[in-house]
Amino acid sequence: RFANFCAGPASMPTAVLERARDEMLNWQGLGASVMEISHRGSHYTQLAEQTEANLRQLMNISDDYAVLFLQGGAALQFSAVVLNLLNNGTADYLLTGAWSQKAYQEAKRYETLGLGKINLVATGGEAGFVDVPDRSQWQLDDAASYFHYCPNETIHGVQMFQVPQVDAPIVADMSSCILSEPIDVNKFAMIYAGAQKNIGPAGLTLVIIRKDLLDRASAYCPAVMNYQNQLDNGSMMNTPATYAWYLAGLVFEWLLEQGGVEAIAKINHAKAKTLYDAIDGSDFYSNKVNPAYRSIMNVPFQLADDALDKVFLAESEQAGLLNLKGHRVVGGMRASIYNAITLEQVQALTAFMAEFERKYG
Ligand code: PLP
Repeated sequence: RFANFCAGPASMPTAVLERARDEMLNWQGLGASVMEISHRGSHYTQLAEQTEANLRQLMNISDDYAVLFLQGGAALQFSAVVLNLLNNGTADYLLTGAWSQKAYQEAKRYETLGLGKINLVATGGEAGFVDVPDRSQWQLDDAASYFHYCPNETIHGVQMFQVPQVDAPIVADMSSCILSEPIDVNKFAMIYAGAQKNIGPAGLTLVIIRKDLLDRASAYCPAVMNYQNQLDNGSMMNTPATYAWYLAGLVFEWLLEQGGVEAIAKINHAKAKTLYDAIDGSDFYSNKVNPAYRSIMNVPFQLADDALDKVFLAESEQAGLLNLKGHRVVGGMRASIYNAITLEQVQALTAFMAEFERKYG
């Protein structure tokens, strides 16, 4: 298999795909694929419970939190968060990249509908999202229902490694950094993540929410988006994304076998350092993000001459290094180095970069 640096849907651990292939036609001796059986049957409910238990172990999630396996992608949570938590109050939004900006824009629609107020805390947008706005400039609401931010901005490669010190309950879009390094879940009111980076295939969305926050949903909140409803129904109010949920379970087992999040974090930091060192050690490549906030999952970088972008992409693909094209908003290149990417694959990338610079630099 090639090294696939796609930002999402992203590379999966090969061992997980091999196991899924082996179990594809006949899961647990049932003579059917896991995708062909009822989510209400005991085989599937056991799988669902074990998957949640493994996630709780990996992230050290206490019983104070509900864990939901939902559909609709992280983008649906941009609305669900508002409809479940705004409660006619004010919500604070910090903007550090394209995704927190999208979450803010979506939330603003509910302000227009009269459901509450959406407050812009600060934005790094004017500087092109290469830094986190200085804490002294944040305009927080004293009584905010919640504070929303995106700890890892997938497109701009901006990551906040410290949880912000704010009084309001913290809601975090962890789509592209969940399970990449240890976090203290207790510092968050709610965490959500689309699955298609570090969890499994697209179609599944994780929500981890403190149970005492489940009592404030708006009457406008659709039943399938209502967290209390979904908790009461074991995330099976309607048919869940059963196959994606199963694959997430295989990924969690794989991660536990690797030594859990602590072990994968060491590898992730080594991968990121390898790549940033290669970028910083050359005049040919550059990354514009403030070094204190450089993402360990998504590494955008530019070539000194963007006329060479197409050549770089064609030659890297030939070398078995796939999907390095940067997001159109940022341009240049981007290497997404999620959990399934190995240190050796990153080293293959940096070796290719050095050789490319020697040829064209
Ligand atoms: N938030 C972040 C940080 C993302 O990276 C993405 C997608 O890449 C999304 C939200 C949107 O996720 P989805 O496509 O699952 O709705």
